[in-house]
Amino acid sequence: MDAKDRLRRYLEQRREMGESEFALDTMSIEEAMKVIGSGKASGASPMRPLGGTPPAAPATPASPATPAASGAPDVSSSERAVAPESTDWREALRAAGAKPASPISPPASPPPVAPAPPAVAARETPAPRSEKPTGVPAAPIADLPPGLVVAKPSAPGVSDIDAAPSLDAIAEMVRRCTRCPLHKTAINGVPGEGNPNARFVVVGEAPGATEDETGRPFVGAAGQLLTKILAAINLRREDVFICNVIKHRPPGNRNPLPNEIAACSPYLIRQLELIRPGVILALGTFAAQTLLETKESIGKLRGRVHRYHGIPLIVTYHPAALLRNPAWKRPAWDDVQLARRILDSSPLDRA
Ligand code: URA
Repeated sequence: MDAKDRLRRYLEQRREMGESEFALDTMSIEEAMKVIGSGKASGASPMRPLGGTPPAAPATPASPATPAASGAPDVSSSERAVAPESTDWREALRAAGAKPASPISPPASPPPVAPAPPAVAARETPAPRSEKPTGVPAAPIADLPPGLVVAKPSAPGVSDIDAAPSLDAIAEMVRRCTRCPLHKTAINGVPGEGNPNARFVVVGEAPGATEDETGRPFVGAAGQLLTKILAAINLRREDVFICNVIKHRPPGNRNPLPNEIAACSPYLIRQLELIRPGVILALGTFAAQTLLETKESIGKLRGRVHRYHGIPLIVTYHPAALLRNPAWKRPAWDDVQLARRILDSSPLDRA
C-alpha cells in the first residue's frame, strides 16, 4: 500500500469514526479526501460508533498531532514525488493543494510541558489546579464554546423511578428490573456506585462481563483505566459516583438498543437528580448522546461545556476506546482536565 493509500485509509477511518474535523490547516476530512483525489469513501466498511466498543482499526488512527511517532501514514516513495524534501505527510498533503496553515490549527506536536497522557493517567501527582490544560482553549471556562442544553423534565410514565427516594432505592429497583429483556441474559444488575453526595459523576455505556459478574460498574480493564484517569485529576473512585446508561449487560457487549436505552435511562436521570453533582463526565457516544439527547458525534461534542439540567457536562472518549486507540488518550486527557477545572470552579455548597 503506498503512502497515498495509507493516508486515504487513515482519513476514511477518521470519517467512519464520526469525525469531520482534521488537524491539518483546518481542513475537514472531506476536503482532505478531495485533495488526495478521493471523494466519498468507496469501499469503506461501516463501523460501529464510538463508545464502549469501537472497532479495532486495522491500522491505529494516529493522533493528528504526532503522526510519525504514533503510526499515522508517513510519506514514502510515491508521496515524495509531491514533496521531495519532506517525509511529513502533512507537507505532502499541503503540497498537493491544501490550504495554508491557520493560526487556530492545533500545534503540530504537543508543547514540551504537556504530559504524555498514558504516563499522566498513571502518575500520582495530579496537575495543579492552575495548570493550563493542553489542547483545551486557554480561555476562562465561561468563554469556552457553549454546548447543548438539556432542560426538559424526565420522561412521563416512570413515576416509580421518578419518585425513588434514594440511590439505594434505585439500586434495588435496578436489581429487580424487568423493563427490557436484558435482565434475562445478565447475571447482575449494575446500578452504579460511589459517593451519594458526589460532586463529580461519571456516566458510561453499559456493564461488560466483569461488571455483570460483580454487579459493580467499571471494574474490568476499561474500569482500571478509568480509575487511573480519575486519580490523575486527584479523584478517588469513592469520591465520585460511577454509573452507566444501561444497567444490565447487553449480551456479548453489543451496543445498547434504542428500546433498552429508553427503558433504562429513567434510572440514570433519577440518579443524577438525586446526586445533583457539580460536573458530569460522559464517557463515549452512548452516554453523551443519551444525556444530551443528540446524535452528534463525539468529535463534535468534545471540547464544549454542555448543560444537563443546569449541570455542566463534559464529553470524552470511553476508556475502552482509549485502550484500543491510544492516540485518543491525549484529547481525553484534555477533556478530563477541563472537567476538573469546572469542578474546581463550581460552588461547594449543595443547595
Ligand atoms: N464499560 C462501560 O460503559 N461501563 C462499565 O461499567 C464497564 C465498561
